[in-house]
Amino acid sequence: MDWSALRTDFPVLDQEVHGRPLLYLDNAATTQKPRVVLEALRHYYEHDNANVHRGIHELSNRATAAFEAARARAAKFINARSADEIVFTRGTTEGINLVAYAWGNKNIKRGDTILLTEMEHHSNIVPWQLLAERTGAKLQFLPVTGDIGLLDLARLDEWLTKEVKLFAFTHISNSLGTINPVNELCARARKLGITTLVDGAQSAGHRPVDVQEIGCDFLVLSGHKMCGPTGIGLLYGRQEVLEAMPPFQGGGEMILNVDFQRSTFKHAPHKFEAGTPDISGAIGLHAAMDYLDKIGRKQIAQHDQELGAYAFEKLSAFGSSIRLFGPHIGRAGLVSFLLNGVHAHDVVTVADQRGVALRGGHHCNQPLMHKLGVESTARASFFFYNTTDEIDQFVEVLHEIQKFFGV
Ligand code: PMP
Repeated sequence: MDWSALRTDFPVLDQEVHGRPLLYLDNAATTQKPRVVLEALRHYYEHDNANVHRGIHELSNRATAAFEAARARAAKFINARSADEIVFTRGTTEGINLVAYAWGNKNIKRGDTILLTEMEHHSNIVPWQLLAERTGAKLQFLPVTGDIGLLDLARLDEWLTKEVKLFAFTHISNSLGTINPVNELCARARKLGITTLVDGAQSAGHRPVDVQEIGCDFLVLSGHKMCGPTGIGLLYGRQEVLEAMPPFQGGGEMILNVDFQRSTFKHAPHKFEAGTPDISGAIGLHAAMDYLDKIGRKQIAQHDQELGAYAFEKLSAFGSSIRLFGPHIGRAGLVSFLLNGVHAHDVVTVADQRGVALRGGHHCNQPLMHKLGVESTARASFFFYNTTDEIDQFVEVLHEIQKFFGV
């Protein structure tokens, strides 16, 4: 596979920043969009724009058909049993909030435990904190084993107590690059009747994600992290589980009948989609899923891990002048690090002056950062359009930064 040839599909990559060719290494925050996605958005607005599910006119029928085709495509993309298991959301954050509210309010009671892990993004912590405050439930966190960033699976049975009603965890850590054994985690929870939610934000665009193979009850993802537009994401829920949940938000589109005092609701997934949805977003996401599958997610996964391993090896050569976070082998395509004597924000600021887009901060993982005894890290995160040449240039820039700060 000629990965660098794919770069021409991404107009934004072809530019200079501060007089240097752009080196975009902030893909865990959001990925760039290929021309086919931009064209799908443009085509929709130029030819078919109308509201969905309401009109009888031609444009509305076309918009509705395209929106529902995107749902069917999404079901195929993650191997759901049916399109009815796919709820369109604004993204991972909204998907988790939907589950915490609609499923959580009904199923979680005082004395119950919600089990998370120490490597969760804030979006997989805060909605559960709010649910725990509403219900009197308790939050517990499966530990991460220090800088190496693996879940302490040897102790999992101690944490899966009879009080645990939900186990929610990320597939891939956005700050450590850990790839969690989601199939095993779901299987062990399912044996005990515990409901599972997988945060697929960092995995869905980088590897095959098959909800039946994973065996989860819920999986959430964000379109913008997998070549799609911002503002669209998916919540997958097992049909029986979704159907038993009350609505999340109320409004148009999600009702069967409305009286002044009471309303009845559509079946899932429509009862969770109040108001006008992000129609163009769904259509853009459809194009993104086609694009990723045309390349092949197995090939993308292999390249992703190769880039992660290559970068980790290059950074390891900095020896005692660097602190590296996350697993040494089997990591995803991102590296999190601290150069001794240089603040992560300074690394990112100076790198930007050289055209390199990195991220520095707590990466919405504050509790994990506190556990690791740091406030922030610098992070380079890759996608299939990145190359080992770019990683070499990034490493060169890190050497320049060390010289610049005299460390
Ligand atoms: N979970 C993980 C692991 C993430 O990396 C992110 C985004 N950084 C999110 C959840 C939240 O995604 P979004 O902001 O698209 O809702």
